[in-house]
Amino acid sequence: PIPDRTAASLPAEKIPSEPAVFIPVDRTAEIQEARLKLPILAEEQVIMEAIRENMFVILCGETGSGKTTQLPQFLYEAGYASGDSIIGITEPRRVAAVTMSQRVCKEMNLSDRIVSYQIRYEGNVTKDTKIKFMTDGVLLKEIQKDFLLMKYKVIIIDEAHERSVYTDILIGLLSRIVPLRNKKGLPMKLIVMSATLRIEDFTQNTRLFPITPPDIKVDSRQFPVTVHFNKRTPLDDYTGEAYRKISKIHRMLPAGGILVFLTGQAEVNSLCRRLRKAFPFRPHCKAPAEGEEDTVGDVKKFKKAKQKKTLTMPRIDLDNYSTLPVDEGDEDREAGIDDEEEQLGSDLDLDLGEEEEGAGEGDKSDPSLPLYVLPLYSLLAPEKQAKVFRPPPPGTRLCVVATNVAETSLTIPGIKYVVDSGRVKRRFYDRVTGVSSFRVTWTSQASADQRAGRAGRTEPGHCYRLYSSAVFGDFEKFSPAEITRRPVDDLVLQMKDLNIDKVINFPFPTPPSSEALMAAEELLLSLGALEEPPKHGRLKELERAKLSCPITPLGRAMAAFPVAPRYAKMLALGKQQACLPYVITLVSAMTVREIFQELDRPAVSDEEKDKLTGKRARVVQMKRIWAGQGGALGLGDLMVMLGAVGACEYAGCTPKFCEDNGLRYKAMVEIRRLRGQLTTAVNAVCSEAGLFVDPKMKPPMDSQVTFLRQIALAGLGDHLARRVQPEEVLDPKWRNAYKTPLLDDPVFIHPSSVLFKKLPDFVVYQEVVETTKMYMKGVSAVEPEWVPVLLPQYCHFGKPLETPGPRYCSETGRVRCHRESTFYRVGWQLPAVEL
Ligand code: ADP
Ligand code: MG
Repeated sequence: PIPDRTAASLPAEKIPSEPAVFIPVDRTAEIQEARLKLPILAEEQVIMEAIRENMFVILCGETGSGKTTQLPQFLYEAGYASGDSIIGITEPRRVAAVTMSQRVCKEMNLSDRIVSYQIRYEGNVTKDTKIKFMTDGVLLKEIQKDFLLMKYKVIIIDEAHERSVYTDILIGLLSRIVPLRNKKGLPMKLIVMSATLRIEDFTQNTRLFPITPPDIKVDSRQFPVTVHFNKRTPLDDYTGEAYRKISKIHRMLPAGGILVFLTGQAEVNSLCRRLRKAFPFRPHCKAPAEGEEDTVGDVKKFKKAKQKKTLTMPRIDLDNYSTLPVDEGDEDREAGIDDEEEQLGSDLDLDLGEEEEGAGEGDKSDPSLPLYVLPLYSLLAPEKQAKVFRPPPPGTRLCVVATNVAETSLTIPGIKYVVDSGRVKRRFYDRVTGVSSFRVTWTSQASADQRAGRAGRTEPGHCYRLYSSAVFGDFEKFSPAEITRRPVDDLVLQMKDLNIDKVINFPFPTPPSSEALMAAEELLLSLGALEEPPKHGRLKELERAKLSCPITPLGRAMAAFPVAPRYAKMLALGKQQACLPYVITLVSAMTVREIFQELDRPAVSDEEKDKLTGKRARVVQMKRIWAGQGGALGLGDLMVMLGAVGACEYAGCTPKFCEDNGLRYKAMVEIRRLRGQLTTAVNAVCSEAGLFVDPKMKPPMDSQVTFLRQIALAGLGDHLARRVQPEEVLDPKWRNAYKTPLLDDPVFIHPSSVLFKKLPDFVVYQEVVETTKMYMKGVSAVEPEWVPVLLPQYCHFGKPLETPGPRYCSETGRVRCHRESTFYRVGWQLPAVEL
């Protein structure tokens, strides 16, 4: 065993500038014993020396080796949090930020005032905080306020291998900030931590780190894992295949926890339901006699007991066994990032949904063997997540059904069997059009190996891959960095706000494509967030101006709002007509997204079927009421959002109200928080606004509704669509369709929209999601005569009309005349307006 370090054991001569300090930590014996088993403890000296002698250090090690929980403690003990300075650790996932801060807090026996966390809407950071876990988005916001991050002496970027967009950008920014700080004589360190995956993107990247930083590998006691491939590969029914495999493992193999990798929350919940039905707990059994507790998986004992039909079962705390409310369609969004495993459209889940109950081997299963089934995904309530770390009730076998959070972020003790679907759910964006769709795809070889490794933490294990070795051979080697796969308009705006004008020169670990950067720059220009580049001049200058337009004051105001640039524009315009509270609410609802419960999933029982049908009818009826009539109806789905939020707040925002009306309670709570946050941001940007949050709102007046529709058009201008008139339809696929400037294919109003049957001539939409067809969601009707006024940047104007003639405008001192125009690229005729 490695003795706990004392100040005396520090090699004093190795410390160049920092004094040798040692802040003692009073850990419990139990914790100390558990720590000493972690491989990273053996490397403490090496790691700390490397950190003392270098600005940048890369630390990689197998998941579970102790990086996240131990490194902050090493640094704390070595005095990196003494005085006013603190240690910061970023995580790409909220779950990890919260659980890891709690774990470190417990290990160090300190209050959560000292070891704290900050995620987008909540945190427990105090002025005494010394170790701060946060999501990467939170630190990026802090850099905007204080570029040199003066209060931190060390920043640890955790889970860098996940390659989340904000993590990538933080590494790029810190590769510049840290040397700047050191040059100023204010020492600062950056430690990048990663699972043992491709790290060359960081180490071999001379743009990032001119001198290759030392990379320290933490060996881990990884036990061998036997990988079993399926002979055949089920094409879509992998949840059914997983179910069969788990049943088999559970009935035939010795004790040891099972960890299953699926792709999304809905799938996880459905497999959990099915497993619980097949291997239920018996609530009224007697407690076991002494010494009988550990019968888990002891197959022989169980079989014997079964023959005698007298299995003594341990009593299980039923309340502790989550009955799992179905909260489908949830998402984890941090400062605008989607967590890949969660998703909006449920179409995929429908296709991949449950198989018929009782099909396959399930009906032969022995219901007396208890399986302790726990779900695990990002948005599961923290108390429920914490369950996977506790030992399962005696006499049960742990079975965790997880999304890829269990791949690297969290280590679950006691796993011996891994069942890997080999799939991952990813959001795909079309680079040009921004149309997004969720697709289940094969994961990468690196991820699959990572998943398999979860089985060998405590003893040799087994990994069952639900696909063949040939299919595995075709997997891509590594999963691509997120930044290369999504639009980057929000990032480009944030960078311009940091005065990084030439974003293309930024030291990205992996740069986004130049098309994506171009599309972002174009959108920001059209929103007025960037200064127009000169149209005339010398070729060289024009070339230089390209992709390096500086930010405008409007852009700065927009960057202050933690929402997508399109919505930020709407906020910036919302001051007029006392509309801001409505715009804030709308933008919040659009940012949180999917405020309605997913009711299209297949029902498990007849009873549930009836309940679902009833609820669907009720939701349709409520939407109709919230959509209002007359002018209000024009605002379409955006009016429904306003109405739903308003009604929910009037009812006190209770889970019951949401349940009864098909609203997602979590979404409603998040909207309320975001409204608070946006109100503060608006007040900071325009002091005269003087807003305060009154959750309840009166419905907007007709004139305000019109104004809101115009704001929607101004923000979503590049999302304008025009109905293809019946007389223009040549090909039946264009019936009831809309045309958009960017897409060649027809797009349709989504059936869940209140404007589905109304078919207004011009609409703007929040997003197009591709399922069976291209569907517009979040649709609002707009008037064509607003287009030339609000979106002149998209219009080609004709000569002034003779009649009516020009008019002098005393307000502006300009001459105004009527002009006709056409909408760019598509040439839609727009009515003549006075400009
Ligand atoms: P790494 O960051 O290298 O993946 P961690 O520091 O997250 O490793 O985990 C180290 C060990 O601490 C794990 O093996 C795990 O068993 C244990 N651990 C982590 N979090 C918890 C927790 N919340 N409860 C109990 N044990 C935990
Ligand atoms: Mg970790």
